[in-house]
Amino acid sequence: MEFRTIIEPFRIHSVAPIAMTTQSQREKLIADAGYNLFSLHSDDVLIDLLTDSGTGAMSRNQWAAIQHGDESYAGSPSWLIFKEAVQNLFPFKHIIPTHQGRAAEKILFTAIGGQGKVIPNNTHFDTTRANIEYSKAEAVDLVIAEGKDPASKHPFKGNMDIGALENFIKVNGVENIPIVMMTITNNSSGGQPVSLENLRAVSAICKKYGIPFFLDAARFAENAWFIREREVGQGNREVADIVREIAQLADGMTISAKKDPFGNIGGWLAMNDDGLAMQARNLLILTEGFPTYGGLAGRDLEALAVGLTEAVSHDYLKYRIQSTAYLGNALAMMGIPVVQPIGGHAVYIDAKALLPQIPSLHYPGQALAIELYTVGGIRGCEIGSVMFGRKPDGSEVASAMELVRLAIPRRTYTQSHIDYVIEVCAEVVKLAPTLTGYTIVKEPPALRHFTAEFAPL
Ligand SMILES: *Cc1c(COP(=O)(O)O)cnc(C)c1O
Repeated sequence: MEFRTIIEPFRIHSVAPIAMTTQSQREKLIADAGYNLFSLHSDDVLIDLLTDSGTGAMSRNQWAAIQHGDESYAGSPSWLIFKEAVQNLFPFKHIIPTHQGRAAEKILFTAIGGQGKVIPNNTHFDTTRANIEYSKAEAVDLVIAEGKDPASKHPFKGNMDIGALENFIKVNGVENIPIVMMTITNNSSGGQPVSLENLRAVSAICKKYGIPFFLDAARFAENAWFIREREVGQGNREVADIVREIAQLADGMTISAKKDPFGNIGGWLAMNDDGLAMQARNLLILTEGFPTYGGLAGRDLEALAVGLTEAVSHDYLKYRIQSTAYLGNALAMMGIPVVQPIGGHAVYIDAKALLPQIPSLHYPGQALAIELYTVGGIRGCEIGSVMFGRKPDGSEVASAMELVRLAIPRRTYTQSHIDYVIEVCAEVVKLAPTLTGYTIVKEPPALRHFTAEFAPL
């Protein structure tokens, strides 16, 4: 018997309080924050869906592993435990621990980027793109057309356009393409998965042309679960086995361990190439630390080793993917336009469709995110013209999409928290026709969404 209610496959072991606030208190708090949700104190947020990065709850086994951490500078047993856990899923020859995903990216692109180089990906995550561009190389997105259409129900919207990749290699020349990357799941296009078939095809093209293939694998377990659920012939496989096959298709990886591996901090860089590994370790020593701890404490390495085993648990992944879909489907059912199919780690509301009366450069996503906060204390994240509208030449161009992302921290909120979010959204939908836009009154020269100040129009 399959029951309808998705129970959390864990009991609560330690709790953190949520401070209740009223709507009139929140109206003042958000005004004091310059109408920027990043400027709120998190204590003033009821349900924090700003990001799923580093915000997950650790298990009692992870907390126990923290106590087991050994802080020896070189050759700590915690390092060996971590390395073994990583190589069990990702059997690369060299594992290089870093404090976050972007530190791994910075080291990798310092070694292989530079003027004249071009690096394709399905869709580059923003820190990946920024690190490539900082090295003066160019970052190019080659996701399939369905991946850019919020309404398309393609089961693997994160896939790379294989024809476009091969053409890209011919046009740019093998010597200018140091690696091909694939982001699993494709964060920037809505947490959409990549199929095993597509990963195999990209790997085959890379082998044919002799170009190394790297994964950006922050949500590898969610991606492997989608493969198991959606791809023909994969339904009986262990997720860990699918992950190992994906790793064996590649020559290396970067990862933020703040996502699927249940870290509050962490990441790593891995590869099979000895020369590249030596270069990367030399750079690691400059900015992160000695190669057996990288940017992490021994206790963090141990927590990640345990987190990796929990990340591929079928009971957990089934709950994870179903509970994200539970929120997305409930919003869709009440007529709220959401990116389809529902991704692994977040629900994306199409604010442009919900608030057609607000022009893009009056920031419908920001208006919606502010309303979710004032009505219900929910903190989401605008992904639209506030985030992407200001161009390096100073002009302002509306983003293609105006989204509000509700990212779900791992193992952190219960179904009643999510039922509350659904109720708040229903109330905000009623108010939608009356909502008006915002203007920016103060902004920094770059990455303005973090610190800009707004005023209601
Ligand atoms: C979060 C993330 C990164 C960056 O990792 P940090 O740990 O935040 O530095 C890179 N790529 C993807 C796909 C991510 O989701």
